[in-house]
Amino acid sequence: MVTSDAPQYLFDPNKTVAYCERCGKDTVHHLSIRLTSTADGNEVAPGNAKFAKRPVRRTVCSACETEILHDR
Ligand SMILES: [Zn+2]
Repeated sequence: MVTSDAPQYLFDPNKTVAYCERCGKDTVHHLSIRLTSTADGNEVAPGNAKFAKRPVRRTVCSACETEILHDR
């Protein structure tokens, strides 16, 4: 996958190339981590509510700015 003439952004840990459905092609996505809280209390006991937040990878297409959350 990695070629010797790969663009520099491939080595930026905060950017990744992924397929964007809106663009219909592979584009550069800005990568970040976001903490989300589980909306429904079924998964978490009341006393553990503060542990309900979990990190998910969030990518934003640099071309059309579509945000995608990668849950697990
Ligand atoms: Zn896009």
